Amino acid sequence: MLSMPSLRQDGQRESSKPTGWDRARLGVVVPLCVVVAVAIVCIIVAALTSAQRADEVALEREKHLFMKAVVNHGEWSMRRLKSVVDSDQAAHGNDIDRAGGAPERIAAWLKPLLDHDFVLMIGSADHVLYAQASGAQTNAQGAAAAFSQVRSLLNHLRGRTGVLPDSTVIIARGDRSKAGVSEAAFLQPLLGQLAVVTVAPVQRARADQPTAEAQPVVLTVRFIEHTLLSNIGDRLQLDNLRKIDDEAVPGDDYVFSLVDRHETPIARFAWTPKRPGAEVLQSVVPFIGIALAGFAVLAGLVLRFMRRTAATIAAGENRLRYLALHDPLCGLPNRIFFSERLEAVIADVKRRGSPAAVFYIDLDHFKDVNDTLGHPVGDELIRSVTLRLSRTLRGDDLVARLGGDEFAVITSVSSDHATLQTIAGRIIATLCAPYSINGHTIVIGASIGIAVIDQRAADAADILRYADMALYRAKNEGRNRACTYDKVMDADLSQRKLLEQDLREAIENNGLKVVYQPFMNASGETVVGVEALARWPHPVRGMIPPSEFIPIAEHSGLILDLGARVLRQACLDGKAWPGLTVAVNVSPLQFRQLDFVTLVERILAETDFDPTRLELELTESTLLGNLESAEAAMHRLKALGVRLALDDFGTGYSSLLYLRRFPFDKLKIDRSFVLSIETAADNAAIVHAIVSLGRGLGMKVTAEGVETAEQHLFLRAAGVHCMQGYRFGVPGPATDITARIATPGVYRSIEGDAAAALAG
Ligand code: C2E
Ligand code: CA
Ligand code: CA
Repeated sequence: MLSMPSLRQDGQRESSKPTGWDRARLGVVVPLCVVVAVAIVCIIVAALTSAQRADEVALEREKHLFMKAVVNHGEWSMRRLKSVVDSDQAAHGNDIDRAGGAPERIAAWLKPLLDHDFVLMIGSADHVLYAQASGAQTNAQGAAAAFSQVRSLLNHLRGRTGVLPDSTVIIARGDRSKAGVSEAAFLQPLLGQLAVVTVAPVQRARADQPTAEAQPVVLTVRFIEHTLLSNIGDRLQLDNLRKIDDEAVPGDDYVFSLVDRHETPIARFAWTPKRPGAEVLQSVVPFIGIALAGFAVLAGLVLRFMRRTAATIAAGENRLRYLALHDPLCGLPNRIFFSERLEAVIADVKRRGSPAAVFYIDLDHFKDVNDTLGHPVGDELIRSVTLRLSRTLRGDDLVARLGGDEFAVITSVSSDHATLQTIAGRIIATLCAPYSINGHTIVIGASIGIAVIDQRAADAADILRYADMALYRAKNEGRNRACTYDKVMDADLSQRKLLEQDLREAIENNGLKVVYQPFMNASGETVVGVEALARWPHPVRGMIPPSEFIPIAEHSGLILDLGARVLRQACLDGKAWPGLTVAVNVSPLQFRQLDFVTLVERILAETDFDPTRLELELTESTLLGNLESAEAAMHRLKALGVRLALDDFGTGYSSLLYLRRFPFDKLKIDRSFVLSIETAADNAAIVHAIVSLGRGLGMKVTAEGVETAEQHLFLRAAGVHCMQGYRFGVPGPATDITARIATPGVYRSIEGDAAAALAG
């Protein structure tokens, strides 16, 4: 059986499966994480690219400023030179081509005004009139070398060649429309260095205005070297600005190549560029870091929260699922769970042919306990039943509570009829043992319908229906037994439905008759009483035996009306037989009616029948359930003067409990013991035991179904007080009894074949 712990394991198994919430959580968390990750990457990429872009813009600007500074320097030098050489003082007279004349004057003028490394004055015949280096008198070698290198430039200025020499870059140029050489500034490699070369023509008196070819010119040369570069660097805030040759520079430094018009590098400069982007980046990195860390913490918290929420919801889901599939009172699987499992078992049987069967268990008299002792006791009883069932069955059998007092079991032990009956017998025996709940002793019964699941099994609903039909049969056959479904029951079911309708009409229309069977004193000579028995002469089917219609009446509740009518009729008829006991059968359902005693009292009053002549026959199953209320009702009946007989003794529980506890006046030994009294030694022993038991407890003992003289003799010898059976009289109309007591001794007992024919 699937016990409580294993149910919990079931629940855990459920929880390990991915639930809808898990999938939903993945559906939310994964995109969320992706979005957050993409956002973080975007922020980082944006910061890096904008920093890089800012650095590029800054570098472009530095390059531009640097070039502009060089150009400015050239323009400035050119204008200064021009202003000096254009002055009248510089170039007056005709001593321009003469050493020691105008050139010296010009050099002297230039000296404070221009920052230069060389001054060269070239005469009209392209001879050096004057050369000065770094303020000192020039040495001829340096001047000659310098002159040789600017010669091609001079040729260009004088118009001898159209093109500018290679590796010379024009920085600025004066008005070229005028005759003669126009002033200009150039960048030009010179003496292994890069130099700013400025050129200006020396003016002559207007009268002998020379051609460009013959015009004397002044050249100044300023090497772009450390001092100039550091000036520019300081002004432009270019760190570490320097001229480089082919040496490698640190990775952070920028190398700027100055190219001529052929894009051939003529000089290389390097400086450490400003990196505003990197600086900004550096300053914001900590904040970005903090923000990302915050982001991560937040994401972590959100995830943790979601995980916890998910866990709570998953637990809730599992709990809900558990509640949806289990009975809240006893924790057993409910009908839904049972049906699901049954479908699975049916599928398994079809696939693998494994044995399986369903037990449909119905508790007898549970409702009674609930009604009389209250629901708390009823609930406790259900829990006790659950516990007993759990202990009786195997671990892998499934027990479910289908409703009120209905349980069902799926067992895979066997599909063999005998084995299933044995298991069912064990269940019944366990469930029928007395319960002690809240100080009350409770005895209930149990009936079981068995349906074997075979490979032709339809579905769960059909199997349950089969088990239900078998259960009905078990109840009809006297309860506390198990019946296995067979196909005949299907036909029975529809038959029963029709019969139930007919019975209802018969009871309402007084279609049922009451017959009486006499019972005698021990000698069998004197009628001491009669037992009222119901008869149903069916208009179509003929006489229907009580064994067929009484169960239908009990199942449908019609027995209440039927029972009351028989009782009333028996009281009315019994008045004609003074001194005779009138016994009436009482069905368990009738007896358990809360107002049963009142009903008896009323009928006695209405019919004016002597209560002391009325004997009510109860069976053991009538007493099941709430023993206290049964006992109380019996005492009330006894107080009215009514006598009580325990019918069919030996077939049911035969518990001494009933004999000891309940105030029975009479014990009726069941017919089955009498039947084989002469042949089966153990039956004889049982009869002896029952008789001495009854006598010991002060009860009268009656033997039912006495058919032969031998049985009569045996029973008489055993000490039985009364005899009932075909030997002494078959059930017949009231008139038969009236006639019989009117002429005692006329009745001839029937024996042998005749009795057997009647019994059949
Ligand atoms: P029961 O109370 O044990 O009634 C005795 C049954 O045994 C009767 O069957 C009777 O005809 C039968 N019988 C009597 N002597 C002999 C005999 O020598 N040999 C054989 N083979 N049978 C004998 P019946 O009338 O068919 O009733 C069957 C059962 O139906 C009764 O068993 C009783 O439990 C129930 N029953 C009948 N009438 C009523 C009724 O009005 N109310 C209730 N609640 N049950 C009734
Ligand atoms: Ca009886
Ligand atoms: Ca009986």
